[in-house]
Amino acid sequence: MDVTTITAAYQSLKSVKDLLAAVFEAKVDAEAKPKILEAQAQLGEVQDTLFALREQLFQLQEERNQLKSELAASEAWLSKLNQYELSQASGGGIVYRYKGEPIHFACPSCINKQQIHILQDNRTISGKYRCTGCNSEFPIEPRRKVEPLPTQHHWPSEG
Ligand SMILES: [Zn+2]
Repeated sequence: MDVTTITAAYQSLKSVKDLLAAVFEAKVDAEAKPKILEAQAQLGEVQDTLFALREQLFQLQEERNQLKSELAASEAWLSKLNQYELSQASGGGIVYRYKGEPIHFACPSCINKQQIHILQDNRTISGKYRCTGCNSEFPIEPRRKVEPLPTQHHWPSEG
């Protein structure tokens, strides 16, 4: 059943009511008149019920459409999220790791907000990567070894 069906039923009832009104106006005996009035009143109640049902149905359909689009959005997000898995990077950070190629990591804080932001290498010796969304840093790679600076040679001055 949809809104159109209810509207059609509502229209039919209205026609019957109009017919009854016409009958009432015609020459009918006094005994029939109260029965016609009663029938009209009952039809009126049914009309009111149908009207309320139509409103309810309309509202339910609106809600259903809303839920459908929310479900679609949620499914889309889940399939995106499914491409990642929570893992510990070699630097110790717990982040989301992309299951495919190219290998990259996503920020767990942003994923909690249903956003995927790829962590970018800070290019520092700490091995930390930065989130492009919330600027958090995560230890992704082990600390890089610091290459000792070449020792300076002091030549004896010729002075
Ligand atoms: Zn983030």
